[in-house]
Amino acid sequence: MKFTWKKMLMVDGIFAYMLFAVFLSSVLQGQRRADSVPADADSRKEAGSEGAQDGDPYRETGKKVALTFDDGPNPYYTEPLLAGLAERGVKATFFLLGKEVEKHPEIVEEIHRQGHVIGNHSYQHEQLSKLSDQAACAQVERTNKLIYDITGEYPLYLRPPYGDWKDGLDCETVMIEVLWDVDPRDWAANDAGAVAARVVKKVQEGDIILMHDASDSSVRAALMVVYRLKEEGYEFVTVEELLLE
Ligand SMILES: [Zn+2]
Repeated sequence: MKFTWKKMLMVDGIFAYMLFAVFLSSVLQGQRRADSVPADADSRKEAGSEGAQDGDPYRETGKKVALTFDDGPNPYYTEPLLAGLAERGVKATFFLLGKEVEKHPEIVEEIHRQGHVIGNHSYQHEQLSKLSDQAACAQVERTNKLIYDITGEYPLYLRPPYGDWKDGLDCETVMIEVLWDVDPRDWAANDAGAVAARVVKKVQEGDIILMHDASDSSVRAALMVVYRLKEEGYEFVTVEELLLE
């Protein structure tokens, strides 16, 4: 699992308090979820016909992975993906581009409403290390503000495009950089089955899987991954839940 902390100026009382409040509320939500596991597990069993034939396909194994989707919101593929995830009771993390957030605010609202975590993927997919500090910070902060205006929450997590952070960057907000462990290069393939197989072969407990809600085959591959890994006893969580482990 790859998390690195980036201090981006002003870890003053307010930001420290905000971070603490967000983590505390996540922990409390986690406890509430834990309290309601039996009801949840039952409804998932009723909804799903895809489990293994013998044994409980949703047994608690403690094996967690996080699906993450970059470059959205996408007007064609994000909503079908959301429907598939909802059907399977899966929460994911979406790293959004500010310029797409501007165009499709209703999809951002839906991602938020369905309980997924929303992160920042810059405004227009710029390689941050190639920009001035000021321009790189603008990519991050403009996107944070756009997301806040829709969801009422500032993103805490940042996935820099190409995984390329700008060293020593000093912006006005504190963010947590989230990279990935498994990259099946779904954007470069049309064969959903092959993409899913690459993930299933490589994934390990605690991994972050990088995908894109940017094509039909990627969406199908992601849902195949859910099906296959649930059979192997994995539970899908957000990057926030992995971070709290
Ligand atoms: Zn990207």
